[in-house]
Amino acid sequence: KSNGFSKISTSNPMITVNVDLGPRSYPVYIGSGLLDQPGLLLSRHVGGKQALIVTNNKIAPLFLDKVVNALKQEISVHTLILPDGEQFKNMESVMKVFDAAIEARMDRRCTFVAVGGGVVGDICGYAAASYLRGVNYIHIPTTFMSQVDSSVGGKTGVNHRVGKNLIGAIHQPKCVVVDTDTLNYLPNRELVSGLAEAIKCGMVRDGEYFEWIENNLEALLARDPKAIAYVIKRSCEIKAEIAIEASCGYGNWLHGEAVAVGMVMAAEMSYRLGWIDGSIVNRLKNILRRAKLPITPPPTMTVEMFKSGMAVDKKVADGLLRFVLLKGPLGSCVFTGSFEQKALDDTLLAFT
Ligand code: NAD
Repeated sequence: KSNGFSKISTSNPMITVNVDLGPRSYPVYIGSGLLDQPGLLLSRHVGGKQALIVTNNKIAPLFLDKVVNALKQEISVHTLILPDGEQFKNMESVMKVFDAAIEARMDRRCTFVAVGGGVVGDICGYAAASYLRGVNYIHIPTTFMSQVDSSVGGKTGVNHRVGKNLIGAIHQPKCVVVDTDTLNYLPNRELVSGLAEAIKCGMVRDGEYFEWIENNLEALLARDPKAIAYVIKRSCEIKAEIAIEASCGYGNWLHGEAVAVGMVMAAEMSYRLGWIDGSIVNRLKNILRRAKLPITPPPTMTVEMFKSGMAVDKKVADGLLRFVLLKGPLGSCVFTGSFEQKALDDTLLAFT
């Protein structure tokens, strides 16, 4: 191919994970330098003649030019720069995307492109799901969290003041482009937040993968590109096999930090139920400690706060609380509402 695409596959192999969803299937491309390969985006996945790139003011100076350059040779490109932060993951930001698209007279064949982490991805994806009843969407995730987690599942949406992610839609992207070079700019706290999500994939689904992370944690913390690319690939594959639930956040904690504590609590509860061996709880706590992730909730959390948080959680069906719990050997989980209430109460008490 003349688009430069073949160049990466020889010097710097690109990994492709195909998310198999019948007619909605799409590829996740993972590799270093992918944003320098215009053909990857253009020739394959951009529908229509117009694209709207949505990003934020922190990411724009880092990557926006690259993406604009990759697209502008053949189609007209519009950009929207939102303010940075989870507090802007709301309907107002979605409206700004609509305003930009309407102003540019974008038609139903256009493509919305999100360049950023989970926040930008969720806003832009949700706007793409509803603009003119749905237009093409491409995600270029730039945080480790969004690369391992939001690349698969099609979840889009925004927060309501009462709770996170209460408004949303499932809208699958045409493709996801993960350029691992974007991580060079990412603060460490954000990196390990994403790592928590990868650890969770191993914990609930694949014991060998968990062990691989245990053995390669130093390389991952040092952002070794090969190790990082492998973790993104394996996590996306696991996510593509099953939908894994995310836990709720606490105040100014990062998503992955809340996930880390949620995992420890789920493991403790599973242990109290007699469903897993105590060594699994210890291995989990150890790897999280090594990654400098939290293993206990903030001291301000009370049992009541956990209970009211769980009540608005989307995992409640017909008033029944359900959890992802561990059962059996390392790497196996169940999604269930049937467990002894006492195990939940004791676990909450132990952590507050
Ligand atoms: P985020 O999008 O807020 O990004 C974290 C911070 O890093 C932001 O300040 C961002 O501007 C900055 N940033 C992004 N890329 C950077 C880079 N390459 N270098 C330097 N800084 C960079 O947070 P996140 O962890 O990516 O995503 C969390 C959000 O995603 C939450 O709202 C969560 O609900 C949502 N989420 C969605 C899914 C899904 O499946 N749709 C999955 C997981 C999380």
